[in-house]
Amino acid sequence: MLLNQTQLEKAVAVARKNKPPHLGTNMTKRRRNAINKAFRHLVENPFINYENGKLLILSDSRTEKGEAKFYETSRDECRLIEPGNFLCHAFWDGFPCWHRAAFEIVENYFEIAAGLSPEVCPA
Ligand SMILES: [Zn+2]
Repeated sequence: MLLNQTQLEKAVAVARKNKPPHLGTNMTKRRRNAINKAFRHLVENPFINYENGKLLILSDSRTEKGEAKFYETSRDECRLIEPGNFLCHAFWDGFPCWHRAAFEIVENYFEIAAGLSPEVCPA
């Protein structure tokens, strides 16, 4: 499906606001960077592949052989599924990654579309 720009911006605002509690400075920074990167990617490529709670993401990095890398991310985990089948390094290390940030934004997007999530008012 194709994401609507205005709605995407709202979904990002919700993600920024929904910071998990007790997040240290370093993690807060990483999370912010992940959200920014995910936002950038979703703007550049607003076609998403989301099915059954899983989002398929084309990585901006390539393998040593120059192959495209695909990640599959869900509420529970983030995984490189093509080529191979490995957990995402950042996820494995317990850090926010932009794949998961993209997933969070897309979920917010659907909640906003369904009228389930209150919109964030400008402070
Ligand atoms: Zn990841």
